[in-house]
Amino acid sequence: MADMTKIVLDEAELPTHWYNVVADLPVPPPPPLHPGTHEPIGPEALAPLFPMGLIEQEVSAARYIEIPEAVREVYKLWRPAPLYRARNLERHLDTPAKIYFKYEGVSPAGSHKPNTAVPQAYYNAAEGVQRLTTETGAGQWGSALAFATAQFGLGCEVWQVAASFTQKPYRASMMRVWGAEVHSSPSELTAAGRAILAEHPDSPGSLGIAISEAVEAAMADEDTKYALGSVLNHVLLHQTVIGEEALLQLAQTGDTPDLIVGCTGGGSNFAGLFFPFLREKFAGRMDPHILAVEPSACPSLTKGEYRYDFGDVAGMTPLMKMHTLGHDFVPDPIHAGGLRYHGMSPLLSHMYELGLFEAEAIDQTHCFEAAITFARTQGIVPAPEPTHAIAAAIREAEACKDTGEEKVILTALCGHGHFDMAAYDAYLSGQLVDHDYSREAVADAMRRVPVIEEA
Ligand SMILES: *Cc1c(COP(=O)(O)O)cnc(C)c1O
Repeated sequence: MADMTKIVLDEAELPTHWYNVVADLPVPPPPPLHPGTHEPIGPEALAPLFPMGLIEQEVSAARYIEIPEAVREVYKLWRPAPLYRARNLERHLDTPAKIYFKYEGVSPAGSHKPNTAVPQAYYNAAEGVQRLTTETGAGQWGSALAFATAQFGLGCEVWQVAASFTQKPYRASMMRVWGAEVHSSPSELTAAGRAILAEHPDSPGSLGIAISEAVEAAMADEDTKYALGSVLNHVLLHQTVIGEEALLQLAQTGDTPDLIVGCTGGGSNFAGLFFPFLREKFAGRMDPHILAVEPSACPSLTKGEYRYDFGDVAGMTPLMKMHTLGHDFVPDPIHAGGLRYHGMSPLLSHMYELGLFEAEAIDQTHCFEAAITFARTQGIVPAPEPTHAIAAAIREAEACKDTGEEKVILTALCGHGHFDMAAYDAYLSGQLVDHDYSREAVADAMRRVPVIEEA
């Protein structure tokens, strides 16, 4: 038992419920506000964008929500996902620490994103929606939604951030294979896109801009709704299938985690991994230290301010209280495309304020150095995003060499890097540079974030 390297579950052990951490928080998270009136909004305000099935989950306080049978059937195409003990890496580091990683790269799209794309497509299809629009940065979310909509017979239209659209053409190809229509953002197809292009014809785009375009397109058509791949409560909820499986798998080894570390863009893979473990921590059954790692170039948790801001550049989304770098943030062209969003999940931001986990930022060259070590020992080429967590895990495991501590480290390898070879080439040829986002830039952006009087 203790010697297992690849820890698997039977199909019959696929979790039947998602876990809603909101039910166990000492203080509920602050409500979203109307973008115009700044008054708290009710669930009905979200109805033009999302189906009721997802809105109910967004505001739910129920501890467990059942995974529909049709969603579980699609999950079974790749779930339960394996948990690995990184023995080769441990040996290479000569550490007494045990490193476990939950591998989400086995999904059809190659990341954890289908865990939420599938239920999102399901609930939309169940309510008669014909088509979904969305934004994508690196292309992981767009390809996950293209895959999921194909499973339920829905149309799919994706606005991909221009910088990635050019840098990573094969993600868009993959989306087209699954039947989606893909546009470079900013585009001429929406008022939001045209406004940006009028001022910056060469705009590299941003997730905030692409969200404005996708939301505008969904609002313009009654049969079309919008899907978001991270940040929102229902997305984090769907991702808890990762942590629920990992709990069962770690139990097989007899180990309990001392450190859970994950990378954070909007926060969904990290939340999905640690929420079920936090429940166990609340119940006194384990006491892991929990750590989020973000890029130095996009440090929403560690340098962003905790305040109400828009989710998009045009100010069309509700105002959400979150750690933010400002909704008009245009990131440096770092390679962890999935970690370039200006805001952090409002639920995670709230939990960060409650002190339920810690956060740090790491430079991309450091992350790629860790990625190479990981690929050469464990074999899997990681997506640039999870290399942030790998870098922290390696550092923590190395620290155990001095203390002799058999620390149990758990992380999520939330995607493979097969579409990110240009980033690896840049690193291997010494062309990768670090970008440190400055406090001055944050302060400047805050001048354009609305000031909200809070009761
Ligand atoms: C989208 C993405 C992320 C960032 O999103 P989170 O919501 O923070 O998980 C991280 N890793 C991969 C592989 C992604 O595709």
